[in-house]
Amino acid sequence: MHEVSIMQDMLQLAEENLRKSGCTEIRRISLRVGLLSGVVPEALSFAFDVLKSGTSAANATLEIESSPSLFSCGACGTESWYESLRFECPECHGILILQKGGTDLELTQMEVSSTD
Ligand SMILES: [Zn+2]
Repeated sequence: MHEVSIMQDMLQLAEENLRKSGCTEIRRISLRVGLLSGVVPEALSFAFDVLKSGTSAANATLEIESSPSLFSCGACGTESWYESLRFECPECHGILILQKGGTDLELTQMEVSSTD
């Protein structure tokens, strides 16, 4: 599963950030996942739960924020941002074309603490 290796990379990055911060424990990790990143958020959460045990993130929670994409209608030109894939223009029922956004997959935020 593709999500497992992504989550491994994210956890590694989080551990590096933790070391730099001088704290000992990761409390929360926030990821931003775009529509076109090819990642299934549910699979990512599952991978997180499996991989976090034994790491500094063992007690951490995962937040996944979806990143919207800009679509424009090929017929009337209406532009809108959507967080899920849409194919039909709500105005004229024309075909929507994806303009930009949605490929991001990044660690946006994390919360750390010291156990002592
Ligand atoms: Zn339209």
